[in-house]
Amino acid sequence: MHASATFDSALSPAFEPVSIPVRELLPWAIFGSILLLLAIYFVGVEEGAAAIFNTMYVHEFVHDGRHLLGFPCH
Ligand SMILES: [Zn+2]
Repeated sequence: MHASATFDSALSPAFEPVSIPVRELLPWAIFGSILLLLAIYFVGVEEGAAAIFNTMYVHEFVHDGRHLLGFPCH
């Protein structure tokens, strides 16, 4: 048995790359960027005087993430 027998074209059909127009991609890229920036804000900045919420719940909830990403903490 030779190697080409394992690559039968019926078992592995050729996949055509799908092109996604920028016009369709852009709103999702902006939406994802906003979500990412919100996540970075809540993990990195939401603390002390700059906090939107006056409790420590957000800080404590993302505390491990702060240390993982290297934000100054304590
Ligand atoms: Zn900490």
